[in-house]
Amino acid sequence: MAEGSLPTTVSFSGVESKPESPGSRRGDDPALIAEEGDPLPPVGTSVHGAIEDERRSTLMRVHTGLHIMCGVVFRDQGALVTGGNMEPGTARMDFNLPDVPPGFKGDLEEAINAEVRADRRIDTRILPREDALAIPDIIRTQANLIPENVPEIRIVDIVGLDQQADGGTHVASTSQVGEVEVTKVENKGRQNRRVRIRLVG
Ligand SMILES: [Zn+2]
Repeated sequence: MAEGSLPTTVSFSGVESKPESPGSRRGDDPALIAEEGDPLPPVGTSVHGAIEDERRSTLMRVHTGLHIMCGVVFRDQGALVTGGNMEPGTARMDFNLPDVPPGFKGDLEEAINAEVRADRRIDTRILPREDALAIPDIIRTQANLIPENVPEIRIVDIVGLDQQADGGTHVASTSQVGEVEVTKVENKGRQNRRVRIRLVG
């Protein structure tokens, strides 16, 4: 729960590309996103916000599922991420993966669910920039998206699988994601493969 005065609404969303919810942030700026047709309250209006727990939990699960997939694809194929998006319960991630091995879709689904069943702990820690960037393969996107003036970097560690620089919200262990289905692998250009997933439960 949060209270504040517009435009300093205190609400929560991750710094990653989470879909906007009615109380949300645009970059560093808190934003109130009105339903279409609803009147906008004047600046300075006192507001009271609440997190939609189910929506947020589902996003945390699917987001963590993307991490598992990203870790597995990097471990097994060495492929970097070129894009992604998510909604509650479904998500996609694009990889620089010119050569897709036979059986990739089914093998990937099995590998992701093996990591879910392994119930790996997920830790976060904040390190000085130099220490974080000294960790091998800590930037998993093809482009380094960390601004140059950021002095500290948050690390999300799926212990034993994957460490990444990341500012988002995750569940505490991989088993909390639940079963994941790989629904589609699409070609998006010569290099890029788009992998779609959904939470089964
Ligand atoms: Zn994340």
